[in-house]
Amino acid sequence: MATALTVKELLARNSEYAEGHQRIPTWEELGAAGAPPPQILIKALVFRTTGAETKSTLPGILALDTLVSLTDILVVKHTDCGGLVIRDANVKKQLLELAPGSEDKIKAMQFAEITGTLEDSAEEEVAFLKSSELLRPELKECIRGYVWNLETGDIKATAVAF
Ligand SMILES: [Zn+2]
Repeated sequence: MATALTVKELLARNSEYAEGHQRIPTWEELGAAGAPPPQILIKALVFRTTGAETKSTLPGILALDTLVSLTDILVVKHTDCGGLVIRDANVKKQLLELAPGSEDKIKAMQFAEITGTLEDSAEEEVAFLKSSELLRPELKECIRGYVWNLETGDIKATAVAF
């Protein structure tokens, strides 16, 4: 049975990793004459969010797109996701007990609950991103939804992915 990883153990693992770490170029070095453009060096950027919701990632996506010109956005939900058991109302109830004076702020928040299928949820996130007037049209064409099955390891495209 797995045991919880402590911060002390995590830092010890980092010390081990750091001994063999290969330094990566800085943004300044990437901008130097003769250096390959950043998009050649960056293979993938990953935003991990509760329930793979995308609203909180939009500012990061927009900012990074200005640096590296993203080519694709994959929204990947997974089976047995915490979003399937998290309930927005339960989180809000607990927060209201903790901070009753912050009712307006708490009610305006969303906590990534997934109430339908994972496929539908992925497609809703794709639709949200595609509805943003701030994303480049050519990037919007390359936003797709997927579901990663933790039992089999397979990642399958949602019905509207292609
Ligand atoms: Zn999850």
